[in-house]
Amino acid sequence: MSVTGLPPYDDANIFARILRGEIPCKRVEESDHALAFHDINPQAPVHVLVIPKGRYVSVADFSAHATETEVAGFWRLVGKVAKDLGLEAGGYRVLTNMGVDGGQEVPHFHVHIFGGRWIGRMVP
Ligand code: ADP
Repeated sequence: MSVTGLPPYDDANIFARILRGEIPCKRVEESDHALAFHDINPQAPVHVLVIPKGRYVSVADFSAHATETEVAGFWRLVGKVAKDLGLEAGGYRVLTNMGVDGGQEVPHFHVHIFGGRWIGRMVP
């Protein structure tokens, strides 16, 4: 177990495979430090995932171990994607699930961006 309570990073996880180009994704935007793509099972009219390119299991791992450049690069892309998708006017929701109690299924840190309708309470 890592310090986050999750197993160590597994390079076979699906988002690692997307980053390596082994499986396709519907890419929205990309920067040196992060990749944004549409969720395969959207829970809102706009449902985008943003992932760091580094090997971080969860938000706990990322916030403890990512460099300041990686942290800034990641969050800059989150804001830019929401803006570029036209979500700023109506607003949007950013969510991350962490570990078992958080319902995290894919063990590569990611945030969900939900928009396009009122989404202020629990989703999914
Ligand atoms: P949960 O599924 O409970 O939200 P996570 O926070 O780990 O758990 O979210 C994983 C997300 O990844 C889900 O919304 C799921 O639809 C999405 N997903 C899984 N596989 C793919 C894929 N190949 N391409 C895009 N999105 C994916």
